[in-house]
Amino acid sequence: MDLVTTRSVIRNVAENMVASEPELTRLDQIVGDGDHGLGMQRGFAAVATLLDGDTCNPQDVGGLLLQVGTRMMSSMGGASGAIFGTLFRAGGKAIAGEPCLTTPVLSRFLNEGLNAVFARGGAKPGDKTMVDALTAAAEKAASLQDKPLVEALPEIAAAAHLGAEGTKNMVAVFGRSKTLGERSLGHVDPGAVSMALILQFMAEGVT
Ligand code: ADP
Ligand code: MG
Ligand code: MG
Repeated sequence: MDLVTTRSVIRNVAENMVASEPELTRLDQIVGDGDHGLGMQRGFAAVATLLDGDTCNPQDVGGLLLQVGTRMMSSMGGASGAIFGTLFRAGGKAIAGEPCLTTPVLSRFLNEGLNAVFARGGAKPGDKTMVDALTAAAEKAASLQDKPLVEALPEIAAAAHLGAEGTKNMVAVFGRSKTLGERSLGHVDPGAVSMALILQFMAEGVT
Protein backbone atom coordinates (compact mmCIF):
# COMPACT_ATOMS: atom_id res chain seq x y z
CA MET A 1 0.00 0.00 0.00
CA ASP A 2 1.72 3.20 -1.15
CA LEU A 3 1.78 6.54 0.67
CA VAL A 4 -1.28 8.00 -1.07
CA THR A 5 -3.39 4.91 -0.39
CA THR A 6 -2.16 4.63 3.21
CA ARG A 7 -3.12 8.26 3.76
CA SER A 8 -6.66 7.68 2.52
CA VAL A 9 -6.97 4.47 4.57
CA ILE A 10 -5.91 6.34 7.74
CA ARG A 11 -8.31 9.16 6.83
CA ASN A 12 -11.08 6.55 6.73
CA VAL A 13 -9.93 5.08 10.06
CA ALA A 14 -10.18 8.58 11.55
CA GLU A 15 -13.76 9.02 10.34
CA ASN A 16 -14.82 5.64 11.70
CA MET A 17 -13.12 6.25 15.05
CA VAL A 18 -14.97 9.57 15.37
CA ALA A 19 -18.20 7.65 14.72
CA SER A 20 -17.27 5.07 17.41
CA GLU A 21 -17.55 7.70 20.16
CA PRO A 22 -20.83 6.43 21.67
CA GLU A 23 -19.57 2.84 22.01
CA LEU A 24 -16.23 3.92 23.51
CA THR A 25 -17.97 6.34 25.87
CA ARG A 26 -20.27 3.58 27.08
CA LEU A 27 -17.35 1.23 27.74
CA ASP A 28 -15.35 3.85 29.69
CA GLN A 29 -18.47 4.71 31.70
CA ILE A 30 -18.47 1.11 32.92
CA VAL A 31 -14.80 0.65 33.83
CA GLY A 32 -13.35 4.19 33.78
CA ASP A 33 -14.37 7.84 33.98
CA GLY A 34 -16.37 7.98 30.75
CA ASP A 35 -14.12 10.25 28.71
CA HIS A 36 -12.41 7.77 26.41
CA GLY A 37 -14.93 8.12 23.56
CA LEU A 38 -14.68 11.92 23.55
CA GLY A 39 -10.89 11.76 23.75
CA MET A 40 -10.62 9.43 20.76
CA GLN A 41 -13.22 11.46 18.88
CA ARG A 42 -11.26 14.67 19.48
CA GLY A 43 -7.96 13.02 18.51
CA PHE A 44 -9.18 11.44 15.31
CA ALA A 45 -11.16 14.52 14.27
CA ALA A 46 -7.85 16.39 14.53
CA VAL A 47 -6.15 13.66 12.50
CA ALA A 48 -8.85 13.95 9.81
CA THR A 49 -8.30 17.72 9.63
CA LEU A 50 -4.56 17.14 9.39
CA LEU A 51 -4.93 14.67 6.53
CA ASP A 52 -7.40 16.90 4.66
CA GLY A 53 -5.04 19.87 4.82
CA ASP A 54 -2.04 20.68 2.68
CA THR A 55 0.40 21.23 5.54
CA CYS A 56 0.81 17.47 5.94
CA ASN A 57 3.34 16.39 3.31
CA PRO A 58 5.19 13.36 4.66
CA GLN A 59 7.91 11.75 2.55
CA ASP A 60 6.95 8.17 3.35
CA VAL A 61 4.51 6.05 5.40
CA GLY A 62 6.71 6.32 8.49
CA GLY A 63 6.54 10.11 8.33
CA LEU A 64 2.77 9.95 7.83
CA LEU A 65 2.18 7.81 10.93
CA LEU A 66 4.59 9.94 12.95
CA GLN A 67 2.57 13.07 12.10
CA VAL A 68 -0.65 11.26 12.99
CA GLY A 69 0.81 10.38 16.40
CA THR A 70 2.01 13.91 17.03
CA ARG A 71 -1.47 15.23 16.25
CA MET A 72 -3.13 12.70 18.56
CA MET A 73 -0.77 13.53 21.38
CA SER A 74 -1.35 17.28 21.09
CA SER A 75 -5.14 17.08 20.75
CA MET A 76 -6.37 14.27 23.01
CA GLY A 77 -5.10 14.56 26.55
CA GLY A 78 -5.79 11.82 29.10
CA ALA A 79 -3.89 8.57 29.39
CA SER A 80 -4.91 7.52 25.92
CA GLY A 81 -3.56 10.68 24.25
CA ALA A 82 -0.10 9.87 25.54
CA ILE A 83 -0.46 6.14 24.89
CA PHE A 84 -1.92 6.15 21.37
CA GLY A 85 0.22 9.15 20.44
CA THR A 86 3.29 7.21 21.57
CA LEU A 87 2.23 4.16 19.54
CA PHE A 88 1.92 6.14 16.30
CA ARG A 89 4.98 8.32 16.90
CA ALA A 90 7.36 5.53 17.88
CA GLY A 91 5.92 3.09 15.35
CA GLY A 92 6.18 5.74 12.63
CA LYS A 93 9.80 6.50 13.51
CA ALA A 94 10.63 2.79 13.40
CA ILE A 95 9.48 2.60 9.77
CA ALA A 96 10.95 5.93 8.61
CA GLY A 97 11.88 5.86 4.93
CA GLU A 98 9.49 3.05 3.99
CA PRO A 99 7.66 3.99 0.76
CA CYS A 100 4.88 1.41 1.26
CA LEU A 101 2.97 -0.19 4.10
CA THR A 102 3.49 -3.96 3.79
CA THR A 103 2.98 -6.74 6.32
CA PRO A 104 6.62 -6.70 7.54
CA VAL A 105 6.51 -2.89 7.77
CA LEU A 106 3.25 -2.99 9.75
CA SER A 107 4.76 -5.70 11.94
CA ARG A 108 7.71 -3.45 12.77
CA PHE A 109 5.36 -0.50 13.42
CA LEU A 110 3.29 -2.55 15.89
CA ASN A 111 6.26 -4.11 17.62
CA GLU A 112 8.27 -0.90 18.10
CA GLY A 113 5.07 0.96 19.00
CA LEU A 114 4.35 -1.64 21.65
CA ASN A 115 7.86 -1.32 23.10
CA ALA A 116 7.47 2.45 23.31
CA VAL A 117 4.01 2.23 24.92
CA PHE A 118 5.48 -0.13 27.49
CA ALA A 119 8.41 2.22 28.14
CA ARG A 120 6.00 5.12 28.51
CA GLY A 121 3.23 3.62 30.61
CA GLY A 122 4.61 0.43 32.11
CA ALA A 123 1.51 -1.67 31.44
CA LYS A 124 2.26 -5.31 30.66
CA PRO A 125 0.02 -7.88 28.97
CA GLY A 126 -2.64 -8.88 31.50
CA ASP A 127 -2.96 -5.42 33.07
CA LYS A 128 -6.25 -4.71 31.23
CA THR A 129 -5.15 -1.98 28.84
CA MET A 130 -4.77 -1.41 25.11
CA VAL A 131 -1.46 -3.28 25.49
CA ASP A 132 -3.46 -6.53 25.53
CA ALA A 133 -4.96 -5.84 22.09
CA LEU A 134 -1.70 -4.40 20.74
CA THR A 135 0.37 -7.37 21.91
CA ALA A 136 -2.03 -9.81 20.24
CA ALA A 137 -1.88 -7.78 17.02
CA ALA A 138 1.92 -7.50 17.06
CA GLU A 139 2.33 -11.24 17.63
CA LYS A 140 -0.09 -12.09 14.82
CA ALA A 141 1.62 -9.65 12.43
CA ALA A 142 5.02 -11.18 13.22
CA SER A 143 3.67 -14.61 12.31
CA LEU A 144 2.22 -13.42 8.97
CA GLN A 145 5.25 -11.62 7.49
CA ASP A 146 5.01 -13.48 4.17
CA LYS A 147 1.33 -12.76 3.57
CA PRO A 148 0.23 -9.73 1.54
CA LEU A 149 -1.14 -6.92 3.70
CA VAL A 150 -4.65 -7.28 2.29
CA GLU A 151 -4.78 -10.85 3.62
CA ALA A 152 -2.82 -10.26 6.83
CA LEU A 153 -4.65 -7.17 8.12
CA PRO A 154 -8.03 -8.83 8.72
CA GLU A 155 -6.27 -11.55 10.71
CA ILE A 156 -4.27 -8.99 12.67
CA ALA A 157 -7.46 -7.04 13.44
CA ALA A 158 -9.24 -10.24 14.51
CA ALA A 159 -6.34 -11.07 16.84
CA ALA A 160 -6.58 -7.58 18.35
CA HIS A 161 -10.32 -8.03 18.95
CA LEU A 162 -9.62 -11.35 20.69
CA GLY A 163 -6.97 -9.59 22.80
CA ALA A 164 -9.52 -6.91 23.70
CA GLU A 165 -12.14 -9.53 24.59
CA GLY A 166 -9.57 -11.15 26.87
CA THR A 167 -9.43 -8.00 29.01
CA LYS A 168 -12.90 -8.92 30.33
CA ASN A 169 -11.22 -11.48 32.56
CA MET A 170 -8.62 -9.05 33.90
CA VAL A 171 -8.56 -6.68 36.85
CA ALA A 172 -7.33 -3.19 35.94
CA VAL A 173 -4.16 -1.94 37.59
CA PHE A 174 -3.63 1.21 35.47
CA GLY A 175 -5.56 4.36 34.76
CA ARG A 176 -8.86 5.37 36.28
CA SER A 177 -10.35 1.90 36.15
CA LYS A 178 -7.82 0.62 38.71
CA THR A 179 -9.93 2.27 41.40
CA LEU A 180 -12.71 -0.13 40.45
CA GLY A 181 -10.55 -3.16 41.23
CA GLU A 182 -12.47 -6.40 40.96
CA ARG A 183 -15.59 -4.59 39.78
CA SER A 184 -13.91 -4.14 36.39
CA LEU A 185 -14.04 -7.94 35.97
CA GLY A 186 -16.42 -9.00 33.22
CA HIS A 187 -16.08 -5.73 31.30
CA VAL A 188 -13.84 -5.02 28.37
CA ASP A 189 -11.14 -2.31 28.51
CA PRO A 190 -12.13 0.68 26.31
CA GLY A 191 -8.59 1.43 25.13
CA ALA A 192 -8.16 -2.19 24.04
CA VAL A 193 -11.38 -1.91 22.01
CA SER A 194 -10.08 1.30 20.41
CA MET A 195 -6.86 -0.46 19.45
CA ALA A 196 -8.81 -3.31 17.82
CA LEU A 197 -11.17 -0.88 16.04
CA ILE A 198 -8.25 1.10 14.55
CA LEU A 199 -6.88 -2.12 13.02
CA GLN A 200 -10.35 -3.28 11.95
CA PHE A 201 -11.03 -0.01 10.11
CA MET A 202 -7.57 -0.22 8.52
CA ALA A 203 -8.37 -3.76 7.36
CA GLU A 204 -11.70 -2.62 5.94
CA GLY A 205 -9.97 0.09 3.89
CA VAL A 206 -6.95 -1.84 2.65
CA THR A 207 -6.78 -2.81 -1.01
P1 ADP B 1 -8.06 8.32 31.17
O1 ADP B 1 -7.76 6.99 31.78
O2 ADP B 1 -7.02 9.35 31.46
O3 ADP B 1 -9.46 8.77 31.44
P2 ADP B 1 -8.89 7.42 28.55
O4 ADP B 1 -10.19 7.10 29.18
O5 ADP B 1 -8.94 8.22 27.30
O6 ADP B 1 -7.92 8.13 29.57
O7 ADP B 1 -8.13 6.08 28.18
C1 ADP B 1 -8.19 4.97 29.02
C2 ADP B 1 -7.46 3.85 28.30
O8 ADP B 1 -6.07 4.11 28.24
C3 ADP B 1 -7.59 2.55 29.06
O9 ADP B 1 -8.76 1.87 28.66
C4 ADP B 1 -6.31 1.80 28.68
O10 ADP B 1 -6.50 0.96 27.56
C5 ADP B 1 -5.36 2.91 28.29
N1 ADP B 1 -4.30 3.05 29.29
C6 ADP B 1 -4.34 3.68 30.48
N2 ADP B 1 -3.15 3.61 31.12
C7 ADP B 1 -2.33 2.90 30.29
C8 ADP B 1 -0.95 2.46 30.36
N3 ADP B 1 -0.17 2.74 31.40
N4 ADP B 1 -0.47 1.74 29.31
C9 ADP B 1 -1.24 1.45 28.24
N5 ADP B 1 -2.53 1.83 28.13
C10 ADP B 1 -3.06 2.54 29.13
MG1 MG C 1 -11.19 7.69 30.80
MG1 MG D 1 -9.97 10.70 32.14
